[in-house]
Amino acid sequence: MNHAIEEKLIFEIDKEGREGYTLPECDVEEVSAKEVLKDLLRKEEIKSLPEVSEVDVVRHFTRLSTYNYAVDYGLYPLGSCTMKYNPKINEYVARLEGLSFIHPLESEDKIQGALEILYKLGESLKEITGMDGVTLQPSAGAQGEFTGMQLIRAYLNDIKDSRKIVLIPDSAHGTNPASAHFAGYTIEEIKSGADGCVDVDYLKKRMNEDVAAIMLTVPNTLGIFEKNIKEICEIIHSKGGLVYIDGANLNALMGKTKPGDWGADVMHLNLHKTFSTPHGGGGPGSGPVVCKSHLSPFLPKPVVIKKGDKYAFDWNREKSIGKVHAFYGHFLVCVRALCYIETMGLKGLCEATERAALNANYLRKKLEGILDLPYKARTLHEVIFSDKNLQNGVTTMDLAKRLIDYGFHPPTVYFPLIVHGAIMVEPTESEPKEELDRFIEAIKSILKEAEENPELVKSAPHTSYRKRLDEVLAARNPKVNFFG
Ligand SMILES: *Cc1c(COP(=O)(O)O)cnc(C)c1O
Repeated sequence: MNHAIEEKLIFEIDKEGREGYTLPECDVEEVSAKEVLKDLLRKEEIKSLPEVSEVDVVRHFTRLSTYNYAVDYGLYPLGSCTMKYNPKINEYVARLEGLSFIHPLESEDKIQGALEILYKLGESLKEITGMDGVTLQPSAGAQGEFTGMQLIRAYLNDIKDSRKIVLIPDSAHGTNPASAHFAGYTIEEIKSGADGCVDVDYLKKRMNEDVAAIMLTVPNTLGIFEKNIKEICEIIHSKGGLVYIDGANLNALMGKTKPGDWGADVMHLNLHKTFSTPHGGGGPGSGPVVCKSHLSPFLPKPVVIKKGDKYAFDWNREKSIGKVHAFYGHFLVCVRALCYIETMGLKGLCEATERAALNANYLRKKLEGILDLPYKARTLHEVIFSDKNLQNGVTTMDLAKRLIDYGFHPPTVYFPLIVHGAIMVEPTESEPKEELDRFIEAIKSILKEAEENPELVKSAPHTSYRKRLDEVLAARNPKVNFFG
C-alpha cells in the first residue's frame, strides 16, 4: 500500500467542465428533450455533483480500495459476521446479463428462469432448515427478524391472543431485542447459566400465558449450541408461545441439524453470511424467513409458486402481513446463494459446517491459556475471549488496533456484553491453517509487547493509512455531509 498520496474527497477534486464521457455525434434529427419528456424533466438543476474525468474517477476509487482491508486480502475474523471467502463463480453467475438486467416489472412469462431460481432457492432453504414456508424478501438479517416477529404477531392476532412479552437471553445477538421491540413487543431479558446456555429451570418457572415468544440466537453469541433446545421449545409451546430462531450463523449448523426438527416455529437466515455474497460496509444482503405451516398464511406477498411446470407470483394471500421490501427482495444475492448451494451440494454444505467449527476450535485450543477463555464449553463457529490476561493497562481495543499492524482485520470487540472486554473471533470455514497460525502468532506477540512495551500497543496502529481515530469526537460531532 502506498500512502504517499493523501486522497481527497471526490468533491474536492472537482474541476468545472471536466467530463468522464464522450458521446458520438448525433446522426438523427435532434428533438427537444423538453417536448418528448415534458412532465418527466427535472424542475431544478442538479447542483454539487463532482465534475471529474474518467481517469480521475478510476484513480480515486482504486486508491481508496488500497486503503481498505478485504476478505480477498486476508483473515477477517469479525465474530458473528461470517466474513468468509466467497467463490468467484457465484459472482460471475450473478453478473450474467440475463440475470442482472431483468426489469422487476417484467411479465411473469418472460422471467420464468428468474422465478425458477427464487423458487428453487426457497425450496432449498426449507429443506436445509426443516421448515414449510419461505419468503426471500427481507433485505438483511435484522429485517428478517422484524418480518419473523410480525408473522408471530399476525398469527397470535388471528387467534385473538394479545400476549405482549418476548423473552430474549443475554447471549442473543443485539438486533434481536430491537426487532422484537419494533414489532410491538415488550422485551424481557433472561440470564444465561454458567455454561452459557439458557437456564431451563428458570425458564420453566418464568413461562406463562403472557409470553408471546422466545427469541434464541443459535448458536448463541458465545458460539455455543443451545443444548436443551428441544426442551426449551416444549416449555414455550406448552403455554402457547412461539419459538423464533436467529439462524444468521447457519454455517455452524447446516447439513448437521434442522431447526424445524427442534420445534422452531420461525427463523431467518443470512444469505450474505452463510451462502456467499461479499458483505460489509452496508453492502447488499438478504435475510430470508422460513416458518412452519401455521405461520405460512401470514408471509409477505407475493410468494413464488409452481403451477405444473410454470412459475408464478401468488399475490392472492388474504392474511399476508403485506410487503416488507420493494419487488421481491435482493434478487442477485439470491442468485449467488442458489449457485453456492448447488455447487456445494448437501455434502459440501455439511463439510463447510464442520470446517467452520474445526477452525474456531483450533483457535480456541491454541489461544486458551494465552487469552482468557471465560466459557469453556466447546464452541461451534466462533470463540470468545475476555481481556483478563492483558497486562499493563492494555485494553481489548488496543489489541484490536495492534492486530492491524500485523496485517489482520480486528475481530469483533466488546460484544457480547456478558464477557468483560470481549474478543470475539470467527475464522470461518474458508481459512487455511497457515493463516490461522499467523493469527495465533500475532496474538502471542502482542501479549508479549503488552508486557514489555505497552505503549507500542496502546498507540497502535502504526502502519495503517489512518492512525487511531478520535472516536469520542466522531460520535459527538459527526461530520457526515461534505456540504453541511
Ligand atoms: C449478523 C447477524 C444478525 C444481523 O444481520 P444483518 O444482516 O446485519 O442485519 C442477526 N443475528 C445474528 C446472530 C447475526 O450474526
